[in-house]
Amino acid sequence: MSNQTQTKNDNTNQDVDFDVVIVGAGINGAVSTAALSAAGQRVLLIDKSDFASFTSQQSSNLVWGGIKYLQSYEFMLVFKLCLARNRLMRSYPNQIKQIGFLASLGKTAPFGRLLGTFGTLFYWGIGLFGTKAPSSYSAEQAKALEPGLITGRKAVRYYDAYLPDTDARFVYDFIRHAKRLGAQARNYTELVAAEFAGDWKLTLRSDAGDYQVSARHVINAAGPFAEKVSTLLESKTKAGLVFSKGVHLTLNRKITKGNQVLAFWDEQGRLFYVLPMGDRSMIGTTDTRVQDPHTQVDDVDRDFVLRQINNQLEGIEVRASDIISERSGVRPLVIENAAQANTSDWHQLSRKHIIEVDKSKRVISVLGGKLTDCLNVGQEVVAAITKLGAKTTKPVEWFGEGDQSKFEHFQNMVLAKSKDKVAAIRIAESTWRRQGEQAISILGSATELEELVEGLGITAQEVEFIAKHEDVKNREDLLRRRLPIAMARSESEIAANSKLQALLVAAGL
Ligand SMILES: Cc1cc2nc3c(=O)[nH]c(=O)nc-3n(C[C@H](O)[C@H](O)[C@H](O)COP(=O)(O)OP(=O)(O)OC[C@H]3O[C@@H](n4cnc5c(N)ncnc54)[C@H](O)[C@@H]3O)c2cc1C
Repeated sequence: MSNQTQTKNDNTNQDVDFDVVIVGAGINGAVSTAALSAAGQRVLLIDKSDFASFTSQQSSNLVWGGIKYLQSYEFMLVFKLCLARNRLMRSYPNQIKQIGFLASLGKTAPFGRLLGTFGTLFYWGIGLFGTKAPSSYSAEQAKALEPGLITGRKAVRYYDAYLPDTDARFVYDFIRHAKRLGAQARNYTELVAAEFAGDWKLTLRSDAGDYQVSARHVINAAGPFAEKVSTLLESKTKAGLVFSKGVHLTLNRKITKGNQVLAFWDEQGRLFYVLPMGDRSMIGTTDTRVQDPHTQVDDVDRDFVLRQINNQLEGIEVRASDIISERSGVRPLVIENAAQANTSDWHQLSRKHIIEVDKSKRVISVLGGKLTDCLNVGQEVVAAITKLGAKTTKPVEWFGEGDQSKFEHFQNMVLAKSKDKVAAIRIAESTWRRQGEQAISILGSATELEELVEGLGITAQEVEFIAKHEDVKNREDLLRRRLPIAMARSESEIAANSKLQALLVAAGL
């Protein structure tokens, strides 16, 4: 660790000297914070809005090896993503759940059952058999598994994983882990100016006004805003970014029979999914090139997504009035040279990340990437900063779920305090997933436990805890990012939940 003394800013009463300031608290900033703190660096993570409130709250919530990249022969990318997926699945047995993808082989599928069987076996193998084995189904078998599939269509099933509590919660868990390792993390704090004179003097803007901090190194993890931040730092990256918009719509019900993902190929030949979102279904996504990273779901997106789903299911009709929440984000895609920026086949642009180092200014920029690859990003950032001369130490543990041995005790405690035993199991599993061992103290003092939001396993006690201890500044931070309530419930359902409303008011939100 650096021996710089910590000083306080008079206005904000916050530390102002750091080894590293990380700009952007999406997944890339969050993992970098955890990994660098574990390697003995004094880190400040800032985000101009809430943590994970940009791209990292708009994903499909998948931890996956990228089966679709097999179609573009990106075998090395798929191999690496599968290894990253396997490692995450091993490290987060509760937060990351393995799930089957039942792919319906209709007219838009690029292959039939034989090639599909071969492809899924190949995917399983390239992923070093890190998931359950794939299977292949006749039309009758497929229909029995998922009655909504169109009669006469065969199917294959392969396995990947997903984040039941959503991407933004996963990001927050890295930040929480990093804070335990000594990192500071400030949301609603924007980098507005920067000056390099041997060390960095950075001007940050928060509600309390502008103040300065200093740092030896800066990590640019600003996602789609990375080029803007590079300009601010006067440290241009060689690689650039282009943006691909993707939307998801959550429906007022679950439209699948089992706990599985349905996969189809849309009318453009891209994979399209019905994914779980709490106890409801989320459908998407799209892939539209846009210039501006600020996007929202428009009528064209909505019509496209609804058309795909209605074309691919039988006996289930999905209407715009069934939508309870929407997400729209941009994938920041790396272009390594200017020629790629205008490529006509831009769907083929790689989804890999690039880490660029500006030695003269000690700036490390993380461009592109996927949630799935996050542990590698953390490690690569530590390696890059060590190369720049930072005195890193042998890292202590910076990811993973920790001790699981008390789960059974916790579950029994929840069962004993609950009248509804089915809800009790949901409460025990989902609270443990988000809170780990501290779930015992969060729910321990309650005399009786019940779901605050029926079907989601969320209790009043956990909401109170999150409001107090998880950097929540407003309702959206809590309902949309620390918990999946605003994704899995409509605004009117949330407004009608008088107990939840009372809790939010009591918490000053
Ligand atoms: C539709 C869609 C589906 C996806 N699905 C998957 C999936 O299923 N699985 C998967 O692995 N990946 C998926 N991805 C990719 C993944 O979501 C992204 O690669 C990842 O979230 C990018 O994270 P990031 O940290 O780079 O950027 P972001 O999450 O955008 O974080 C950057 C942060 O920087 C902050 N910032 C910017 N400028 C400043 C400043 N001046 N001061 C302070 N803060 C600043 C922003 O507020 C923002 O929060 C998907 C992406 C999209 C769009």
